Amino acid sequence: MRLPEKLYKKLKNREGSNALRTLSVQKNLIDFSSNDYLGFASSKTIFEGAHQLLLEKTIQKNGATGSRLLSGNHKLYVETEKILADFHNAEEALIFNSGYDANVGFFSAVPQRGDVVFYDELIHASIRDGMQMSNAKSYKFKHNDIENLKFQVERNRNESNDQEIYIVTESVFSMDGDSPDLKSLIAFCQKYNYHLVVDEAHATGVFGDNGVGLLQELGVEDRVFARINTFGKALGCHGAVILGSNDLKRYLVNFCRSFIYTTGLPPHSIATIQMVYEELQRTSEIEKLIENITFFTQELKSKNLTSRFIKSDSAIHGCIISGNENVKKIANEIQKKGFDVKPILSPTVPQGKERLRFCLHSYNSKEEISEVLELLATFVHI
Ligand code: PMP
Repeated sequence: MRLPEKLYKKLKNREGSNALRTLSVQKNLIDFSSNDYLGFASSKTIFEGAHQLLLEKTIQKNGATGSRLLSGNHKLYVETEKILADFHNAEEALIFNSGYDANVGFFSAVPQRGDVVFYDELIHASIRDGMQMSNAKSYKFKHNDIENLKFQVERNRNESNDQEIYIVTESVFSMDGDSPDLKSLIAFCQKYNYHLVVDEAHATGVFGDNGVGLLQELGVEDRVFARINTFGKALGCHGAVILGSNDLKRYLVNFCRSFIYTTGLPPHSIATIQMVYEELQRTSEIEKLIENITFFTQELKSKNLTSRFIKSDSAIHGCIISGNENVKKIANEIQKKGFDVKPILSPTVPQGKERLRFCLHSYNSKEEISEVLELLATFVHI
């Protein structure tokens, strides 16, 4: 059957930006693109450990068999949520099938009609989608700009006693790699009793003790209303967790539709998550990653590239190259030389802010980092 004409037209406009590429096409390229910051996705120890755990627990099921509210809440879920809560220093943990599900579920279920959500303008799509499904109003504030947040709150809140205010940000932004001033945000929220929600997707496994997250590194993890940590980036597997109070967990179990109306993750995924958390406590990959981040930043300086990049202390570094065609062309040239660096195009990022996104890993060598930046310099220093 033919796609309706108007969809076909939209597709033609977009298609260059979103293409599915198979792994085999990319397999010989040096990875500056995946979110597998620590190399955990191909860890044999984790893979075999998960299998072993299932054998030990005599769990021989390929699937969860239902929603966690029906038949899907297998015993590994319960013990893994306890491990996660302890590791992240949270009262409770609730696992979701993905970060997308966690954010959509949280923001569609928690803020109520009459409440207001203030969100950083670069917030992840999953949070935007959740807010769209909510009856609460939402307003954006300028990226990492707390003064603008204060202005928006002043302008858009009302005096009603039962209005709750939620403020949402990421501890590491997925496309820019930068971070907000979390301590100031927390102070602001505490002063007025606002609920701060922080998506730690790209900080998990990178910042904090053994990769707990950036909030923990700053010593403020117990001062936010909820944290969302995902397992599909540095942890190399799949799923996500919402960390918060026992009341919040019970509320989500009862009202969060992306939790209720879906089949739970299979035992194998949960066993993998457990093994990943064991690995986090003994790995030296986080130190190697941090070393590479420092080295990358030094190389930017020595190659006179710093001003081209968005300032970042994380594993994500964006080199702004304005215009979809320009950035695609340079990415293509760099890929031809063997480095997997992805162009990030508008409308994923604002027009004029198109960029090459470098994701760093513990397994990138210093030579690879120097070489790819040397190459980049030849394109941007013209
Ligand atoms: N939050 C952020 C900040 C992300 O970057 C992503 C992944 N792109 C998600 C949430 C969604 O996580 P997942 O891939 O587990 O669905």
